[in-house]
Amino acid sequence: MNEQELITQGKHYLLDTYSQVPVVFATGKGCYLTDVEGKQYLDFVGGIAVNALGYGDAGLSLALKKVLDSGLLHCSNLYYNEYAIKAAKALTELAGMDRVFFCNSGAEANEAALKLARKFGHRSSPIRTDIVTMVHSFHGRTYGAITATGQDKYHANFDPLPTGFSYALFNDLESVKATVTDATCAILVEPIQGEGGIIPAEKTFLEGLRALCDEKDMLLIFDEVQCGMGRSGKPFAFQTYGVQPDILTLAKALAGGVPAGATVTKGKANNVFTPGDHASTFGGNALAMAGACEMLSRLKDTDLCAHVEEMGIYLRGKLDELVSKYPSLCTVARGKGLMNGLVLTVPPRKVVDACFERGLLVLAAGYDVLRFVPPLTVGKVDIDKAIAIVDSSLATLA
Ligand code: PLP
Repeated sequence: MNEQELITQGKHYLLDTYSQVPVVFATGKGCYLTDVEGKQYLDFVGGIAVNALGYGDAGLSLALKKVLDSGLLHCSNLYYNEYAIKAAKALTELAGMDRVFFCNSGAEANEAALKLARKFGHRSSPIRTDIVTMVHSFHGRTYGAITATGQDKYHANFDPLPTGFSYALFNDLESVKATVTDATCAILVEPIQGEGGIIPAEKTFLEGLRALCDEKDMLLIFDEVQCGMGRSGKPFAFQTYGVQPDILTLAKALAGGVPAGATVTKGKANNVFTPGDHASTFGGNALAMAGACEMLSRLKDTDLCAHVEEMGIYLRGKLDELVSKYPSLCTVARGKGLMNGLVLTVPPRKVVDACFERGLLVLAAGYDVLRFVPPLTVGKVDIDKAIAIVDSSLATLA
């Protein structure tokens, strides 16, 4: 079947939940994807911040192959597997936290955090069940996670939604203070908002949330599903702020591309769940955990994070140049590490499409942001190439 025939079948058989770009990918190497007709694309989407090691990473492939060859693709969480234990130890040590629940996605990692927070609240009072989240946040597509998501467009047509969620303004501590009540058990926030438009939190905001949670005995939950696992230039984005959460949620790059999620706890969040409270058939599965062990050792034992920091500064410098060159199209570049956004005055989709035509994958974030979340292994040559394509795409719109 050729590419067009495959796309026709895809449109027929797959439920219409995505606005899919008309391409079918077949192979990947480094920062490049190749479609079934042999056309190559430079990938600055990276599976939306998933493929941190790029495509075809030898170390990751070897780690996964070892599990496949052992035959232990999966065993129930009724039993232990050594990969999950090793990943839990490596993850908690790297995050300076204590314990972890493994699942398969970001939404699930947040569901576990929401349930844990409510059980934590119940311990002091049956009415302490409310969770404060931020406007423009994104936490996933399951019912708890979409309700936690502070964007109406994700709620429309899916009511009734679970109750007990309130929304405060991001980077506005007074707004959070005004939203918190005696019924609040937790605050959930992304240290760098992703889907909302690549908006880093201010340090004083996260410090203020930490102090507020300590004062009122609430749990501080950081959703690092998108901004975690080295993307910020440190293993976890909260480490760039020096503010430690009680619960950290992860997914996306956690296992380098194999589906995996984690809800990591510290201190007062450690012993809230007891057997029977929560579970996942596939969570902590040997294949995914071998991927997580490889990712975590790359963050801890190699210079990957330093590389991200250096490439992030380089990329942001190039984006700043585009802002200067096209002031009527681009207003500002912002981000941390290799999670960056270019704020546009035109719909991002126009630039995304123009870049696609020229062999570059980029994507939108929020209503007006062009997002760059390439593999963390990206180098200057590919950054220059990507910027040249964005430049020529903007030129057609200027
Ligand atoms: N939280 C954040 C910050 C995200 O960016 C996402 C996905 O984009 C999610 C949660 C949901 O993750 P998943 O799609 O793996 O459920």
